[in-house]
Parts: sequence; C-alpha cells; structure tokens
Amino acid sequence: MTPPRSAGSAPPEGLETAREAWDAFVYNANAARVVFGAGSLQHLEREIELLGARRALVLSTPGQRGQAERVAQRLGSKAAGIFDGAVMHVPIEVARQAREQARRMDADCAIAIGGGSTVGLGKAIALESGLPILAIPTTYAGSEMTPIYGITEGGLKKTGKDPKVLPRTVIYDPELSSGLPVGLSVTSGMNAMAHAAEGLYAQDRNPVMSLMAEEGLAAIARALPGIVRAPQDIEARSQALYGAWLCGTVLGNVGMALHHKLCHTLGGSFNLPHAECHTIVLPHAMAYNAPAVPQAMARIARAIGAQDAAGGLYDLARDNGAPVALRDLGMPEADLDRAADIAASNPYWNPRPIERTAIRALLQNAWAGVRPGD
Ligand code: NAD
Repeated sequence: MTPPRSAGSAPPEGLETAREAWDAFVYNANAARVVFGAGSLQHLEREIELLGARRALVLSTPGQRGQAERVAQRLGSKAAGIFDGAVMHVPIEVARQAREQARRMDADCAIAIGGGSTVGLGKAIALESGLPILAIPTTYAGSEMTPIYGITEGGLKKTGKDPKVLPRTVIYDPELSSGLPVGLSVTSGMNAMAHAAEGLYAQDRNPVMSLMAEEGLAAIARALPGIVRAPQDIEARSQALYGAWLCGTVLGNVGMALHHKLCHTLGGSFNLPHAECHTIVLPHAMAYNAPAVPQAMARIARAIGAQDAAGGLYDLARDNGAPVALRDLGMPEADLDRAADIAASNPYWNPRPIERTAIRALLQNAWAGVRPGD
C-alpha cells in the first residue's frame, strides 16, 4: 500500500515514521487497568473491590516490608496478610512458600508492592492459582505490564508467557518511588529505556507501540537528571514512572532482541545485577544494531535529544552517575569469551545477524566502558 503523503510532508532525514505507519502489522493490546498519579494509592480499596476481591495477600521484599504494612493497614479487614520474602529472579522455593501462604490464608487476590522481583513473585502465584494480581510498582523495570514470568529452579531461570500472570490492575503512584535510591533509579530507568529502544526495531513492531516507545524514552531521559538533582521531586518521579509504564507496555507487546539476550546471559550465567547490566550494555547493543536499523536509531536519538542513539544513551548513563563498564560490576575479563559463546548460541531474532567475533568485540567495549563511536 502506498502512503497517502502530500507534497512537502516528507519526514526529517532518517525518520520514516509515516511510512512505517503504513507497513502491515498486527496490534493486540494486553488488557490492564492503569491508575496513575501522585497519591493514587488512596484508590487501592476501590480497585480491590473492582477486582471482586475480599482478602488480599500483600507481597514485598524484606526491605519494603514497611510499605507492605502501610498497604495492609489501608486495607484493614480486606488484607489477608503479608509475605515479605520476595527476592531477585523468583527462586521456586520462595514461590512455593508464597503460594502456600496464599492458600492457607484463603487469599483471593495478591498485591505486589515493589520492583520486578516482587511483581515476579506475584506472577508465580498467579501462574499456579489464577489469582488476580494488583501491582504497585516502585521501580521502573516494567514487569507489571507484561505477561512474561520467570522462575528459577536448580540455578536456571525459566521464562514463559501466559496472559494469566499479567497484573489485572496497576497503580502507579510516584510518591512510592521517591525512596528508590538515586543510583538504582537511574539504572532502573535505563532498564526501561532498553525495552523501548529494542521495541522500535522489533520484528513484530507496530506504529502504536513505536509511539509509546518514543514517548517512554523521552519521558525517562527528561526525568533522570531531575531525580539526580532532587530525588524527592514528584514531577521527575512522575515523568519516570510514566515512562516506565510506556516502556513496560512495549516490552509486553513486541519481541526483544540482542540487547535483552546479552543481559539475560550476563545476569543468568554471570550473576551480574539486572538494572546495571541493562544500563552498561544498552549503548553497545544499539551501536551493534545501528547499521541495520537507522530509522529506529533516529527515533531513539530524537527522543533523548542526542545526535546519535548509542552515544546519547551512554552519555545519559554516565552523566547521571551510573556505571558504564562491566568491569566495575566485578566481571573478570576472562569471562568475556564464555559470555560471547553463550550470547551467540540460540540467539533471539535480531535485525543484524549475530556474529560471534563482533559480539565478543561488543562485550570487550562494554567491559572496558568505552563510549560507542569514540
Ligand atoms: P528489584 O525488584 O529486585 O528491586 C531491587 C531492590 O530495590 C529490592 O531490594 C527492592 O526491595 C528495592 N526497592 C524497590 N523499590 C524501592 C523503593 N521505592 N524504595 C526503596 N527500595 C526499593 O529490581 P527490579 O530491577 O525492579 O527488578 C528486577 C527483576 O525483575 C529481575 O529478576 C528481572 O528479570 C525482572 N523483570 C521481569 C520483567 C518481566 O517482564 N517479566 C521485566 C523487567 C524485570
């Protein structure tokens, strides 16, 4: 189909947004109710009632027990109890304990207040029991908007997709993320940006997700310097959470590629921290894919107000105090060969073919913290 473009309406160089809108696509939105705004936790009771629930099990990490208690207090008799054992990557033993507690307490809903680890635990409960999940995200990881779950058993994290695990309601209250330490706020924001950046060149991308991706990137790029300057600034926190919602939606709707594969490898096989890994690898994954997808790169650069997507993402991380080198996470250089082998085996679809030698070079640059293009 030829786009109905009138004379003089050509997009700026490198930005073929209008043409993309006329490419064939499938758009299949995930159903989730989103309640957004500073102070929106006040609507929790109404939202629980809308789910038809009467006894909610509140989930958190040990460190966020205080926030879980405030949620339970707010719910009064509608709170069945608290399970505060959420940890990174949802170990099966923890999932079993939480499922058992939900059964014992006769819970008919689970409320996950926290980051991707706590939302992931909620998903593990929903996967088995079908209980509806209400998520209250306090990081920018984006798990609350996806039907993707992960459970770790015998040291291996198995992931899958099931509409049952998608939280039915998400309350985004920026006041609850104002206590997220600045360092984690920046890396978590970069983690969200990675979903949007890869969404812009996904094989199954569509124009609506691309709009959300670009807006999500722009919102987080604006938010991060504001959070670094004033961590309690509700406007900056709102921008970041708004961006996280958009980027998480992109993650939940279109496929991811090389960047996410590299981060799964580094997190899963080398035990490197999730958000930091995303932050360090993202500029290098973008530099790798740039020759194959110049339009996506132009949209990323436009969104973050940079000349170049890869260099701009690197600068955003570095200028806001985030780590930019894998060696600073304690990864030994000697592990890079094995990481390249794993990342190049069974690769995800990627716009540029995965070549082991080029991936090894990418990892070397990410390890040393070299700015792409320099
Ligand atoms: P996290 O949930 O592990 O949180 C990191 C730490 O920060 C925790 O100790 C947490 O309690 C604390 N924290 C969170 N919010 C806070 C706040 N507002 N104030 C103070 N402390 C706070 O980290 P994450 O990066 O959000 O999630 C990472 C996990 O989520 C990984 O296991 C990753 O694989 C998963 N994930 C899954 C998806 C998906 O779609 N399934 C998407 C993104 C991430």
